[in-house]
Amino acid sequence: MENMQTAIEEAEQYLIHTYNRHKVVLEKGNGMYLYDTEGKEYLDFGAGIAVFALGYNNKELNDAVKEQVDKLVHTSNLFYNANLKDAAEQVVKASGMKKVFFTNSGTEAIEGAVKLARKYAYLKGNKDSEIISMNHSFHGRSLGALAVTGNAHYQEPFGPMNAGIKFAEYNNLESVKALISDKTCAILLETVQGEGGIYPATEEFIKGIRALCDEHDILMICDEIQCGMGRTGEMYAFQNYGIQPDVVTTAKALGCGVPVGAFLANEKTADILVPGDHGTTYGGNPLVLSAVRKVFEIYEKEHILQHVKEVAPYLEEKLDELAEKYEFIKERRGKGMMQGLECTKPVGPVIEKAIENGLILVAAGANIIRFVPPLIIEKKHVDEMVSKLETAFKALQ
Ligand SMILES: *Cc1c(COP(=O)(O)O)cnc(C)c1O
Repeated sequence: MENMQTAIEEAEQYLIHTYNRHKVVLEKGNGMYLYDTEGKEYLDFGAGIAVFALGYNNKELNDAVKEQVDKLVHTSNLFYNANLKDAAEQVVKASGMKKVFFTNSGTEAIEGAVKLARKYAYLKGNKDSEIISMNHSFHGRSLGALAVTGNAHYQEPFGPMNAGIKFAEYNNLESVKALISDKTCAILLETVQGEGGIYPATEEFIKGIRALCDEHDILMICDEIQCGMGRTGEMYAFQNYGIQPDVVTTAKALGCGVPVGAFLANEKTADILVPGDHGTTYGGNPLVLSAVRKVFEIYEKEHILQHVKEVAPYLEEKLDELAEKYEFIKERRGKGMMQGLECTKPVGPVIEKAIENGLILVAAGANIIRFVPPLIIEKKHVDEMVSKLETAFKALQ
């Protein structure tokens, strides 16, 4: 077998260098664990960045996708396919929305949501509409999604940006109010900010935004791409707050690794986009929707939401203990199985060491260790994670 490091060097010569990857070639997975090409085992607290909710090598999910491959992979959206109704019904019902458009990624779900908001304004005669987004948000890397991403560093080399985007402070309702004008057509926020550092919305903030949107006829768009699909213990994180957005974006765990996203519209927004307004060749093809259907089915059968509610407090407790014990940990933040430890220094070396110890973690910004494990996680995995993480801490002291 080829040496892993040689394989990495060989791959690098062909890849545009947009990622500083860990020097590991992953080959297979099982449950909470991943294995590299040299057979080393890793406990996974990254889930492919909050994607693989049902754990690796889930037989039922694998079989559903395999069966679909043998039937029909693609049709285009010029036709219906046999998975369309079930998948659409499941995601619509799970989110409490009215209608759905399937995309290939989270970024494209944001693109669709932004287009919908622009057209909503346009139909009201507002042809110079503005969207309020949040500082430290993340919504994707396409030009439309990047324009609403509150990170100057990501935007700067790729200007000029899409016009009419304003940025408020997350969890600061006054800062949102200050930006509202006659032109405002939408307020966009992650219900729990992910890449920006694992910040859950406060109840006051999210309810305040809902009220502002109602008062000024503005669309409330919740980006649930990372925090949705059960990660917080409710199927969609906004459901923790008892509010309903006008538009929702979802992806990541929606297909558990099969690339699929969606944006959803409520009663008010379901008929804004009409034939000719938006499209995608692959979006919602029978292959990806075979995964979506099965994912929802497994969530229900395995009581995934209930399971998250049971295990997440244990994860929080253990992370709180770490925050108490180590001076360089400033605080724990998060909701359910989406947690972060903010440190007083860059966490890159800790994550590197953890991976060496067989624990996969992801950062969220420079100083925050993110914990987004598969949702099938048990308490014993939390214990194993803590032990491996502490070994990494010690190696660096
Ligand atoms: C990952 C992510 C996106 C982008 O999704 P992709 O599938 O990578 O295009 C958008 N918004 C949030 C909150 C995300 O976490």
